[in-house]
This record gives sequence, structure tokens and C-alpha cells, in this order.
Amino acid sequence: MAKWVYNFGGGVNDGNVALRSLLGSKGANLAEMASIGLPVPPGFTLTTEVCAAYYNNDRNYPAELKCQVDEALARIEKAVARKFGDKDKPLLVSVRSGARVSMPGMMDTVLNLGLTDETVLGLAAASGDERFAWDTYRRFIQMYGAVVLGVEHHRFEEIIEQTKVDADVTEDTALSPRHWREVVGAYKKMVVEELGKPFPQDPQNQLWGAIGAVFGSWMNPRANVYRRLHEIPADWGTAVNVQAMVFGNMGDDCATGVCFTRDPSTGENEFYGEYLLNAQGEDVVAGIRTPRPLSKAYAKHDEISMEEALPEAYQELRKVREALEKHYQDMQDIEFTVQQNKLYMLQTRTGKRSAVAALRIAVEMANAGLLDHDTAVMRVNPAALDRLLHPTLDPKAERALFATGLPASPGAASGAVVFSADEAEARAQKGEAVILVRVETTPEDIHGMHAARGILTTRGGMTSHAAVVARGMGRPCVAGAGGIGVDYITQTLSAGGACLHVGEIVTIDGSTGEVYVGAVRMIEPHLSGDFGTIMKWADEARRLQIRTNAETTLDAETARKYGAEGIGLCRTEHMFFDAARIGAVRQMIMSRDVVGRRSALARLLPFQREDFIALFRIMEGLPVTIRLLDPPLHEFLPHGEAELAQVAGTLGMDEAAMRARFAELAETNPMLGHRGCRLGISFPEIYEMQARAIFEAAVEVSKIARAPVPEIMIPLVSTRKELDITRAQVESVAQAVFEETGKTIDYKVGTMIELPRAALLAGDIAVAAAFFSFGTNDLTQTVFGLSRDDAGKFLPVYLEKGILSKDPFVSLDVEGVGSLIRIAAERGRAKKPGLKLGICGEHGGDPASIAFCESVGLDYVSCSPYRVPVARLAAAQAAIKAKTPHFRDN
Ligand code: PEP
Ligand code: MG
Repeated sequence: MAKWVYNFGGGVNDGNVALRSLLGSKGANLAEMASIGLPVPPGFTLTTEVCAAYYNNDRNYPAELKCQVDEALARIEKAVARKFGDKDKPLLVSVRSGARVSMPGMMDTVLNLGLTDETVLGLAAASGDERFAWDTYRRFIQMYGAVVLGVEHHRFEEIIEQTKVDADVTEDTALSPRHWREVVGAYKKMVVEELGKPFPQDPQNQLWGAIGAVFGSWMNPRANVYRRLHEIPADWGTAVNVQAMVFGNMGDDCATGVCFTRDPSTGENEFYGEYLLNAQGEDVVAGIRTPRPLSKAYAKHDEISMEEALPEAYQELRKVREALEKHYQDMQDIEFTVQQNKLYMLQTRTGKRSAVAALRIAVEMANAGLLDHDTAVMRVNPAALDRLLHPTLDPKAERALFATGLPASPGAASGAVVFSADEAEARAQKGEAVILVRVETTPEDIHGMHAARGILTTRGGMTSHAAVVARGMGRPCVAGAGGIGVDYITQTLSAGGACLHVGEIVTIDGSTGEVYVGAVRMIEPHLSGDFGTIMKWADEARRLQIRTNAETTLDAETARKYGAEGIGLCRTEHMFFDAARIGAVRQMIMSRDVVGRRSALARLLPFQREDFIALFRIMEGLPVTIRLLDPPLHEFLPHGEAELAQVAGTLGMDEAAMRARFAELAETNPMLGHRGCRLGISFPEIYEMQARAIFEAAVEVSKIARAPVPEIMIPLVSTRKELDITRAQVESVAQAVFEETGKTIDYKVGTMIELPRAALLAGDIAVAAAFFSFGTNDLTQTVFGLSRDDAGKFLPVYLEKGILSKDPFVSLDVEGVGSLIRIAAERGRAKKPGLKLGICGEHGGDPASIAFCESVGLDYVSCSPYRVPVARLAAAQAAIKAKTPHFRDN
């Protein structure tokens, strides 16, 4: 018989952390914690296979499920000596979702299940606390009503608010048992009004209703969005965990909290978290009451830490913290409840952390002997590293403080204030930088949080939804800025007498919690010693070399600072656009004969030579791949009428002639037109001038510094003949320069592989090439038949509809484009063993694409300067995965 249900706690643990795919992260970790002796209330997990079976079978459960759930429930009853639905000693349970990877707040949860008009009396009698029993019952009706029965949240809130007004109190905790009983009565009445039927009084009905709601929530819109953003396959499904309730709301010796075993913002080895006295778990996460810090070290003078309020449970929790870190060898994010001074663990999972924290934790754990270097390298998310390299606020910049909140997710961002996730998304799509401002965020805001540069909330703590999600997404976030008033109706936010309207610019600093009016100047980041250490360990592990795409001295210097091992792509056309050169370029284009073109090119030569001298000097003997001119010539001519007239005037050219030339050069489909090596073949003097500039520069530099190794690259080749012709041009220029100067330098001539035909005929082309560099931008364009310039208009729809899982211009299409790369690599190397292979399209900086490059055995990837560290780390991780099987499955 298939096993659909796994027990945990109370002495029976059917699962463990290795079964995460089957039990979900929460269920697997509960079993794991229980099996290492931590205090976990007993429960059971309905597996992710139940979820799959449920959806595959028209939302029906497998036949054996009911019976297995009954057995597992009976085991809990025995373990805690209570009975489900019993009127004297009722067992209450929680029903929680738990997917393979955590999806915070995306799916549904129901607590306190099993309460009815009858069992609430038993709970009151058994606990001796009537207030607690009725408060718990109203919580249950509220949660079950909203999650399972679909009653709007605010209907419940309104009843509580009214009760507080009537009782003349401001805090929930000031309400008496009688008040809570009245709230329960009002809730039930409202549910009948809303739904036309009473609130369910049969605990079994309640249980299956909640299980159905949790499985159903796997497919709710916000979970779908979250999955898409995090690339979580829909067929993974969620598990459902049913667990005996423990109560943090039973009095002042009770509490609930969430904490991290280390500081998730800085990575400091400090116990870091928040708790609420006399409350249930949802109160902390929902940001309804502002939680207090766990340890004295983090408490302000008027705050009582858990260390002081519940010293015994706190010490117990510290022991758990140590046990968990030792066991999992990673920073954990845990949830706990204290019931009458006794600690219970409700969850542990790998803690989300800022990039700074990730580096620090990995390095400190490795240095403490908890991890080896490879594992430490695997612990840092390359995408997170990217954020570290982004600017922060310049301390010297002028600024006008607007308000202060909690530093919830590090980094700084400026943008226009918007008050809704939809508006954030709409404006961001038009290219506007926005800061999403909310009283608090909910999972429904996820798309807006993703679209925004930063997030600002006025309520909630460091573990509120906004804080956790922003950190995970790498968005700067200031949370709980209580001094700010937000008015959604007038679309304003106000603080200390100042008022800002929608669309006005603010700057937030997620590392300090400060919010400023207007845009504040930012500066380059300072990289910590931990960054250097991880980079060193990554360099020791990686096989792929990392080069950069650079044509300016600034880019080249930045890339070297970040560890680039050469230039993989210098797009020479960028050098032509410079104000000092564009005139000569245009003259060259306007010339109708070789003599005219050569004379214009002669004016360009010294500029190009200087460009290359500068790059060679910065690269100090490292390889520099220079691509000869690629774009169609009309790109260099003025486009608008007015501009054309003005340019003709300054160049002393005939306006009509320029217009005619422009029309002559115009192409219907320029991406597939007169560009790349086709230009070099039609106008050999262009490539000759460029080759001369390269060789003269190389000779020049070799006299004063380490001789460079230019790698001259011919673009858009689709036949061997094209390469033969253009290579011969380059070689004859090299010969001439070496003879003129009496100096010879090493160089290579290779080609880009950026057309499908070139990939398929790579064997033949390899004979004429010293290296291949995959131009995956054009290769993606031509393999898909998808215009690089126009795809943005419809690709989002393709992603939404799941036709494509990722934008293929961002992350390499391994199946299609990747196949061609594989073919080209194999055919090229079969003809020329040891042929040097690299990639220089945008994909060279994308971690998933880099992993693919590792698998194909490329020699290097080349990416933009800021992505060099990301690429170093991603290359190391790919190499570690290749040699260490257990990392491959994660
Ligand atoms: C490419 O096509 O991948 C490439 C690097 O060249 P470009 O983007 O300049 O066309
Ligand atoms: Mg290209």
C-alpha cells in the first residue's frame, strides 16, 4: 500500500531531512529535529505525492489516505493524551503547508483546529483559563473562516474593533473572557450571514476542509507568481503538516517567536530574533503587534527581551540554537512557542540572509571547522553577490531625513513613491525606478515588490513579510517606519509635518533604516575581507576562466579590480561613437571610393591605436579579444532629419547626398543584413585599419610593458571562406607592421560563433580559427528567429503563459541554443583538439548559463565588469557540482 502519511515527534519519526522532496521542507525538518531530540510536538505529514495525486485526479484524494490520516491522528492523541473532538480534553491541531522549498506566506495555514462550541468548554476547563479558550476559539473561526471558507479578513477585524470600542480598551489583551465569548458569537453570526450556513462544528469536517484548503492554495495566484519568480516547478506540489497545537497565548509564561541562529543582515554570530509574550505565531509574522528582541544585546532601554522575560525558556532556546547549527552546519531560521515556560520547536529551515551575511557566515563557519572551503563557496548565492557590488549612499552626500524605520534588507535605492504593487509594476515596466510604500506588505504584493527598487513599510518587524521577502529578493527594504503616516486614499506619506505625494522621489537605505526625501548620491561598494576570502576559495575551485566585455579604460580597470583574467570581447564599434571620431567614421561611410574611405580611416587610426594601447596596458599581458567592426554602417549615420542636416553642416557635406547615402544603406532587416564580416569583405580597408591599430599598439606596449596577446575576432561568420578572407587581411597587416617595426608579437585570429550555420559547420571553420567565442546574443536571436530588438514586446506574455520558462536573452536556452553550442564545441575540437572556446554574449554573466558552459567544457566566459565576481563564484560552484555528486541534487 502506498505510504501517503509520515509521522513525526512523540517518539516516531518516519521521515528525515533527506526526504525534503516528499515531505516538504517543513515536514522533513520537523522529523529531523524530533529525531535529534529537540522538543517537537507530535504530528504527521501528508506528502507532496498526495498533492500531485489530488491534482491529477480531479481534486480527489487517494483512497487509502483517510485511513492513514485516522491512524496518524490516533497516534498524536495517544502521545499527548488528548482526543480530537473530545469535550473534556480536546486535541487541537495546526494544519500547515510545506513545499520542498520555503515559500513564505504564499500558502495557507490553519491553527487551533478542532475547536467547537463544545470543545471550547473542555479547553477552558482543562486549561483553567477561560479567556485563553475563547480567544483561541475566535482565532480559529477567524483563520478558518478566511482561509477555508473565504470570508474577507476585514469582516472579522471590524467585529474585534467594535468590541474594543464598546469595552473602551485599545489592546486585544485587555479584553475579558466575556468579550471574547461575545466576539465568537458575533463571528458565527456573521459567518452565517456571509455563507448562509453555520460554522462547521464537526472537527473531522474541519480537518478535511483545512487539508483541502492547503492543497488548494498551492495553485492560488500569489503562489503561482512566487513560483514563477523563483523558478519552482508547479508539479512539485506542497505537503500538509498536521501537528498537535502548543499555545503561546496561554498567559504571561507563554510566548511565540521567530529567530535566526545568526544575524541575517550582518551575519554576525549573534542569536537574533523576535518574540511576543502571550501570543500565537501568526501574530509575529503578520506584523499585527510589534515584537520584542530575543536577546538583551539587541533590546533598547524600554524593551524587555525574552532573555529577561522568560529566562529558562531562553536558555533552552540557546541550546537548541547550538544543536541546530551543529547539526545542519548552516544558519537556521526557526519558529518556536513557549507554553507555560516549556519550549517547543515548530520549524527550522535554512535562513535567508543578506549577501554580506552569506559571505560572513560561510567564511566564519569554514574557519570554525564546520564546513570545508568548497561547501562554503556553495553557500553563497551568486545572484546575491551581485547586489553587494551595487552602490550605497555616499556618506558625504547632502540629504534630508524624512523618517527612520528598521534596516530590514541592506542596500540603498531611490525612486518614485508608489502605494500599490500594481502601480509599482506598471511604472517599472515603463523603465521608472519606484519605491513601493505600504503599511505592511502581504503575499499579494509580491509582484510589486519584485518590480520596485526598494520597499518601505510602516508596520512590522525584522521578520515581517516585507523584511523576509525583500531580503530574499535582494531589494533594499526599510520596515516598520512607524513615524510615517500612509494615506492610500490621498496617495501621500507624511512624517514630522512633511508630506510626500505619489511620484515624488525618495531614497531608502536598507542598511540603516533611513528614508530620505529626493535622490541621494550613491557610491561604489566597499568589499569586505569575507568577500575576498570567498573569491579566493572560489578561484581555487573553478576551472573556467573569467574574462570581461570591455572597451573603455574604466570598464577594463573595474573588471581587473574584480578579478577578470583578460578581455573576452572588446566591441570596437563603441570606440567609433566617441565625439572625436564619429566625424571621421561618417566621412568614411560617405566616401564612394576606396581612396576616400582610406583617407577617412587614416584619421581614425591613431585614435584606435590609443584605445588599444590603453587596454593592453591595463590588461598587462592578459589576453585581449578584439572584435573587428560588427554593426551595419547606417547605425553611425544621423537618423532624424534635423540631426542629419546639422551633421552634414558640421562635416561640410552635402545634405542631400547624406540623405541619399542613408537611404542607400538602410536595410529592412539590419540584424541579418550588411554587418559583421560581411562589412570586412565589402570594405577590406576597415578591418585593415583596425588590424593595423591593434598590431601597432601591441608593438608599442611590448616596448614598455608585458607584451599583450591580441586575439582578433571576426564577427558573424557563417562560412569558412569568410574567415579565410578576413584572416588573410589581418595576417598581411600583421606581417607589414612587424616588418616596419622590426618587432614580432604573438597573436591569434579566431571567430565568433553566433549563427546556426557556423555552429553546424564548426569542424570546417575550426581549421581556419585559433579560437571560437560564442556570441550567444546573436545565436539566440537566430536560433529562435527572435529579434533582439523587438522580443521585449511579446516575451513577457511567453513567460507568463509558460511557453518559455526564462527570457532566453538573459539565461541561455540550454535545450536549443545550448545544443548548437555543444555541437560546435564537439565538431570544432574534433578537427582541432584543444581549440580555445569561450562565450561573450550576455549569458557569460548568468550563473545558470555559466553552469552550462562548465558542462560543455568551454575555456572561459566573458561578462560585464560588475558581473565578474558573480561569474567567478558561479564557475566555482559549477566545478564543485561537477566533482561532488551530493551538491548536484540540491
Ligand atoms: C553576441 O552576439 O552574443 C555578441 C556578443 O555580439 P553583439 O552582442 O555585439 O552582437
Ligand atoms: Mg553578435
